[in-house]
Amino acid sequence: MVVPPCANTKAFHLKQFNELGLAEPILRAVIEEGYTHPTPIQSAVIPAMLYGRDILGTAQTGTGKTAAFTLPLLHKVVTDGKQAPGKCCTALILAPTRELALQIAESIHTYGRHMRPSVAVVMGGVKPGPQVRMMARGVDFLVATPGRLLDLMGSGSIRLDQTRTIVLDEADQMMDLGFLPAIRRILQALPKQRQTALLSATMPKQIRALAQDFLHDPEEISVAPVSRPIEAIDQSVVMIDRGAKLGALVAALSVPDMDRAIVFSRTKHGADKIVKKLEHAGLRAAAIHGNKSQNQRERTLDNFKTGKVTTLIATDIAARGIDIDGVSHVINFDLPNVSESYVHRIGRTARAGETGVAIAFCDGEERPLLRDIEKLIGYRLPVRTFEGKELSDPKPAPDVPDYELRPAKKKKGPSGRSGGGQRSGRAQGAGRPNGQQRSHSAPRSGGESAEAGLSRMLADVGSRGGASKRRRNRRRNASGGAGASAS
Ligand code: AMP
Repeated sequence: MVVPPCANTKAFHLKQFNELGLAEPILRAVIEEGYTHPTPIQSAVIPAMLYGRDILGTAQTGTGKTAAFTLPLLHKVVTDGKQAPGKCCTALILAPTRELALQIAESIHTYGRHMRPSVAVVMGGVKPGPQVRMMARGVDFLVATPGRLLDLMGSGSIRLDQTRTIVLDEADQMMDLGFLPAIRRILQALPKQRQTALLSATMPKQIRALAQDFLHDPEEISVAPVSRPIEAIDQSVVMIDRGAKLGALVAALSVPDMDRAIVFSRTKHGADKIVKKLEHAGLRAAAIHGNKSQNQRERTLDNFKTGKVTTLIATDIAARGIDIDGVSHVINFDLPNVSESYVHRIGRTARAGETGVAIAFCDGEERPLLRDIEKLIGYRLPVRTFEGKELSDPKPAPDVPDYELRPAKKKKGPSGRSGGGQRSGRAQGAGRPNGQQRSHSAPRSGGESAEAGLSRMLADVGSRGGASKRRRNRRRNASGGAGASAS
């Protein structure tokens, strides 16, 4: 392995990509993506991985973690220049969902565009034949979901004995999906001499135990813990009867300049019902959930990325890790049963230096769930109301709650927000004077002019949406009209 110029892995907070020790074709691709500075997780993970360290990283999606592990892996492919034998891969990346696996593979192609690495994606929901054929030649990168990978290992189509690096992305989600035994079996099939990176939004006991069993003296890196939602998101809650939610959703989405929204439904059936209602109201919506075939899911995501569909209705599992630029709104049609999911959901907006709006619809029965969310995030969400067809001015906050909230903490430096890195020409804080972001942690009073109603808030975001549309068009033009997305 080539030791990078910065062999001291403690020299983390490097400010420029070219200080991280990455090869020139990778730096070129990163610049072409419009990134000017590494995000905090990238500054920490890239030198450590290049140096050969194991990584135990706590990072949410939206912090730039995909590039944090993809860039050093690409560097190793360039400098090592060895081709994996048939059925083998040099680097293995495990992801909980098919969508995330595809996104990671897309990121490898994006950042590796000047190197042309060979990449295979192995996941359920599609025929295994093409995956087996792709693996027969051996690849630089294998991105896989655990179940299908084990199947193909069992049938002898994939071998892991030549794999030099493994990345476990969204490890806590893999556990929630019951993949822990599969992960252990996969890790046992790898050579003892290897590099392991384990990334997770949260660090529950089982993940720590996994790290203890399979990681060697890992570099522990932590950015933006899950209990602190990213600060560029303008959050609010609409107290509403269950029966009025569909009408309120149509009103929320019908605002001119609404750019792109993800609506979260607790159930698959509920998601389909929402699509029908929105289509009936003339809105371009589509659902993505576990009952849809892989092809349908991919087509829907593509349509959402290219703007053919402006509203995506999703369940938690299907939306996990989805990274689509320019999502201006996240609407929680149903509140999640698990408060952490709220944080994951709203993290679909305000990615990598942008701002966004998150609206939660809360009916009478969901009040305990709202209370749990507020306890987790440490502050109360500003309340708005829905009357008839209009989303009205915010009402003063209800009476003091019967629980103590932790005081909102001030963000610390640039790492306090999602992404933290910068893209040149991005609309940071667009729509606000001097590029200001509205902090969710600042208590809002009903009298503040910036709080004068959800409609106005939506219109405000519409202008940001315009900025992201322009940016997308610029990027599309730059990539020859291919509608390229960063990951
Ligand atoms: P991730 O956390 O990997 O899902 O990344 C979230 C978003 O951040 C993606 O859209 C990336 O394209 C973007 N991104 C990654 N690194 C940077 C960076 N250094 N500067 C700006 N944007 C970035």
